[in-house]
Amino acid sequence: MSTMELSTTFKARLLGRRDVAEQTMAFLFAKPPDWSFKAGQFADLTVLNPPETDAEGNTRGFSVASAPEEDPLMFATRMRDTACKRVLRSMPIGTEVKIEGPFGNLTLHNNTKRPAVLLAGGIGITPFRSMVVHAAKAKLQHKIVLFYSNRRPEDAVFLKELKALERENPHYRFIPTMTNMEDSQLPWDGEHNLINHELIAKYLKPLAPPAVYEGGPIYYIAGPPQMVAEIRSALTNTGVDEDDIRTEEFAGY
Ligand SMILES: Cc1cc2nc3c(=O)[nH]c(=O)nc-3n(C[C@H](O)[C@H](O)[C@H](O)COP(=O)(O)OP(=O)(O)OC[C@H]3O[C@@H](n4cnc5c(N)ncnc54)[C@H](O)[C@@H]3O)c2cc1C
Repeated sequence: MSTMELSTTFKARLLGRRDVAEQTMAFLFAKPPDWSFKAGQFADLTVLNPPETDAEGNTRGFSVASAPEEDPLMFATRMRDTACKRVLRSMPIGTEVKIEGPFGNLTLHNNTKRPAVLLAGGIGITPFRSMVVHAAKAKLQHKIVLFYSNRRPEDAVFLKELKALERENPHYRFIPTMTNMEDSQLPWDGEHNLINHELIAKYLKPLAPPAVYEGGPIYYIAGPPQMVAEIRSALTNTGVDEDDIRTEEFAGY
């Protein structure tokens, strides 16, 4: 387990926001120079003095989608019709929010002899974007395979960027899968299956002989709780040790 960064609270100015997939936005915030986090960690974001609120309150936990090497700080979220998200969508550029963190231990293991298998469902891609951008920038030697499941390409944030990273990092493979293409207006010639044992095995087998990779992969799963539970049981049913599975449930979806 990696050493955790100390959590602190600071105010950060909204620098920009943009649509990054259907009903999904990325938010950029000024990052204090002395604030650090590990790729994969999350922070609590609170909108201050909001013009409206509801029973769910003004705070949401978001994985940091930017890598530690990147500035500004980026979060990405599905824009559902809740007071907190309506405020995030409409607050003027320059508005300050409160950020507390970092929290969590969904961070890459140290042993480069064990591959990392990253399994993302929808917006669960955010901690993994941070990890794979960090791995490319820091030239980490881990073999990393990122599986990314969405209903349609329209829903898949960071798709092109995550594919392009394969050219920067020879140890990284990106396997997106679209499970509801009948509802899509876009072309797709990639995978269609849900993330399951067959799909994972298809891309893990060609990795290398087991002797090179002592102990097998460490699996990381992030996304809505139901998806995390389904993939976890698919893995354990095929003999993966619970100790080799790390998860982040995006409670609230
Ligand atoms: C570690 C972590 C990282 C996350 N990262 C992201 C991210 O990068 N992007 C993103 O879009 N979302 C992320 N989420 C989910 C996010 O915090 C919100 O819950 C989600 O965006 C839904 O918010 P909403 O306003 O749309 O819905 P709402 O339903 O109005 O808000 C959900 C609220 O209810 C709480 N809640 C609901 N169900 C539960 C539950 N079962 N257990 C605990 N609290 C619950 C949430 O914390 C939140 O305060 C993350 C959650 C966690 C725990």
